[in-house]
Amino acid sequence: MDNITAIFREKKLKLTPQRIAVYRYLQSTTEHPSAEAIYKALQPSYPTMSLATVYKALKTLVEVGLVQEINVGEGNFRYDGKVGAHPHIQCMCCNRVDDIEGISFTELNETIKPYTNYDVVTNRIYFYGLCNECKKKSE
Ligand SMILES: [Zn+2]
Ligand SMILES: [Zn+2]
Repeated sequence: MDNITAIFREKKLKLTPQRIAVYRYLQSTTEHPSAEAIYKALQPSYPTMSLATVYKALKTLVEVGLVQEINVGEGNFRYDGKVGAHPHIQCMCCNRVDDIEGISFTELNETIKPYTNYDVVTNRIYFYGLCNECKKKSE
């Protein structure tokens, strides 16, 4: 709690219960939930919080860089409490999204320089495949 207070203060964010709930939830999971999934997960503890409020809280948290918005190409954004650059992998069967740890592709920013006249700032890498559970099911 103290941690969140300090983090929010540093970003000059008002500590609303909704923002805290959304931020805390994202810190507690590695599942990269959608806004709807966050809304459903918070329903039991925050029955009066609407989906619109969840969206608003997410938008603010993304704007100040406390949450990462990831678009895995399903027309539906997922949210990540881990904001450092890291690649993601999505299951093509059940759509779960996982982090890939221990590897970074920041050197790609250098690699593509000869191919563009942009100043390259960052990149996002997504891999697609079959997760363990889906692999087992299909065997
Ligand atoms: Zn799967
Ligand atoms: Zn992630």
